[in-house]
Amino acid sequence: MARRRLNVRVAGKHLLAPDVTGLHLQPVAGEPRLQWLPGQYLDVLLDEDRRRPFSIANGPQPDGTIELHVRHVAGGGFTSRVADALAVGDTLRIEGPLGTFVAREDSERPMIFVAGGTGIAPVKAIVEHFLELGTRRAIDVYWGARSATDLYLLPRIRQWQRQAPQLRFHAVLSEAAQAGDAGPRTGLVHEAVLADHPALAAYDVYMSGPPAMIDIARHRFVAAGLPEDRLYYDSFDYAPDVLAQIIASRAGFHL
Ligand SMILES: Cc1cc2nc3c(=O)[nH]c(=O)nc-3n(C[C@H](O)[C@H](O)[C@H](O)COP(=O)(O)OP(=O)(O)OC[C@H]3O[C@@H](n4cnc5c(N)ncnc54)[C@H](O)[C@@H]3O)c2cc1C
Repeated sequence: MARRRLNVRVAGKHLLAPDVTGLHLQPVAGEPRLQWLPGQYLDVLLDEDRRRPFSIANGPQPDGTIELHVRHVAGGGFTSRVADALAVGDTLRIEGPLGTFVAREDSERPMIFVAGGTGIAPVKAIVEHFLELGTRRAIDVYWGARSATDLYLLPRIRQWQRQAPQLRFHAVLSEAAQAGDAGPRTGLVHEAVLADHPALAAYDVYMSGPPAMIDIARHRFVAAGLPEDRLYYDSFDYAPDVLAQIIASRAGFHL
């Protein structure tokens, strides 16, 4: 799909979790609409050189609404603005669609989705796409979060389970104190996947979240027999200018 730059209006803003803001963006009158595949992301353009990537949490809608889940990064310029100053009616300039983290429909294999934090955003878009298609493939969704309050999509996930009884959901909390006896599992999300599925050769795996989670899970899943070409992932890396700054400051000079 053709990548384009366009202005969008903030049509809705709400708190999803203590540090996650949900945004609804809509096309500005007279602007073209963004076309995208469920799972892709967009860049918010701050200026010519700086952009901030965010996954689109929904599939294309009749009214053009784009849904984002924005985690507030401590000290982060744009995500702080989203948490504080950004208001309904404000305009953002975006570019998209971007990325290849999309549904692979040419398979009958069972699917495992692994999300870390706001990595649930593109997973939501892809899972809902498969549900709209009426898939009968087995679906396991693993969502790793720090604490129970970070599991901000639970009501929606319960809807998925009502719609598709073959969908199983597994919450995995990294802060042990957050889980009660009968509560969610604790530990690292990829370890929960491997405990349930020690052999992954028969699966398609979709993963989205922080780079550290993606890196370790990739290696462990391939070691568990998952062919690399059936591992689809989106790593929430630093924006290029931020990475350049980090590298420059390590090298002892400033950009
Ligand atoms: C393909 C892709 C999709 C993404 N989708 C989402 C999404 O759906 N929801 C979401 O909340 N985030 C997502 N991210 C991460 C998001 O882009 C960053 O959190 C954001 O760019 C931070 O911008 P900022 O201006 O607030 O921080 P900056 O001002 O750019 O950075 C300030 C400081 O914050 C820290 N920081 C910056 N970026 C990151 C990062 N990626 N991880 C950890 N620490 C960081 C660093 O310490 C940095 O020095 C995605 C990233 C990628 C690459």
